[in-house]
Amino acid sequence: MDEEPERTKRWEGGYERTWEVLKEDESGSLKATVEEILFQSKRKRVTESHGQVRLGMMRHLHLVVDCSRSMEDQDLKPNRLTASLKLIETFVEEYFDQNPISQLGIITTKNKRAEKLTDLAGNPKKHIVALKKAVDTVCLGEPSLYNSLHLAIQTLKHMPGHTSREILVILSSLTTCDPANICELIKTLKSLKVRVSVIGLSAEVRVCTVLTRETGGSYHVILDESHFKELLMLHVKPPPASSSSECSLIRMGFPQHIIASLTDQEAKPSFSMSHLDSSSGADLSLGGYFCPQCHAKYTELPVECKVCGLTLVSAPHLARSFHHLFPLQAFTESPTEQLQKDRFCQACQGELKDKSIFSCPSCCSVFCVECDLFIHDSLHCCPCCIHNQSNP
Ligand SMILES: [Zn+2]
Ligand SMILES: [Zn+2]
Ligand SMILES: [Zn+2]
Repeated sequence: MDEEPERTKRWEGGYERTWEVLKEDESGSLKATVEEILFQSKRKRVTESHGQVRLGMMRHLHLVVDCSRSMEDQDLKPNRLTASLKLIETFVEEYFDQNPISQLGIITTKNKRAEKLTDLAGNPKKHIVALKKAVDTVCLGEPSLYNSLHLAIQTLKHMPGHTSREILVILSSLTTCDPANICELIKTLKSLKVRVSVIGLSAEVRVCTVLTRETGGSYHVILDESHFKELLMLHVKPPPASSSSECSLIRMGFPQHIIASLTDQEAKPSFSMSHLDSSSGADLSLGGYFCPQCHAKYTELPVECKVCGLTLVSAPHLARSFHHLFPLQAFTESPTEQLQKDRFCQACQGELKDKSIFSCPSCCSVFCVECDLFIHDSLHCCPCCIHNQSNP
């Protein structure tokens, strides 16, 4: 495990001479080239989506957040902890938006210990409430990578083999306090097919390099806050499934929301099963989603039935993960001058002023760069193609 593969370090390889890319235009302004660089980086995300691979659509992700002393550093504003928690909040929302049938849990580590902030669950609200509370955490001592990974494994190892098991560590400290040999734990992680990725807030740490390499994860160190956000967002997309993961049919229930009318004398208020394990918020309610198999009641979807274990989702949830399997083709980029007809974006109706336009390969409609990004990031279908389909 000790020999490092041949790999050029960042300082050995070619560096990006961003200052040489910068050129003045006729009026002596740098604005145009800066915009060009920003434009290229925006486009990169759209074109980078992978083609035909098996994706792990059902994900179980444990997020490990370092809450050690070093999180008090103020290189991120106002400090590392507050900045990270804020970004993680956005990440959680985005994660559940893109992976509606997946689960997420949060672990914090400080003072040589690891603690569960939230259990693995499919509901973003709980995690976001916990993250909002965590802002007041006192940052203490050293983190423990070993204890955090060990705690995450305890739940991940019980997850079915067809799902993707992942751990994402946000590590700020350059040291870790481990009670046992972490190399043994890395072997266990590897055998359980848990993919561990790390985002470092300070500098590259050797143990993380080995950890991520052995488990097939990724390791990045942030440059600044916007880079941090970008790195987090890389983990929103479902990862390619490992070829050895099992295939299986998954039984799912699609309960309908039933509302009991207040005038109905027979209707009795009841508790939702999802409140069983939480001490707060146990409210009596009339309507709800009823498990088609055992009739247990839930107020929110998606959820795994506590009684019979059936995965309960709503059809729109499932449809939302569909676009990962059949991604929308990238639009073709061409210079605006080529366009003979009126230069208006087919989506926002704005004038096409940028030097490039984007056209859909199937319906040839043209779009501006902003609409192109919106279509590929959020809509996942070409509005003009849909329009043509409904009006033949
Ligand atoms: Zn059930
Ligand atoms: Zn537009
Ligand atoms: Zn189209």
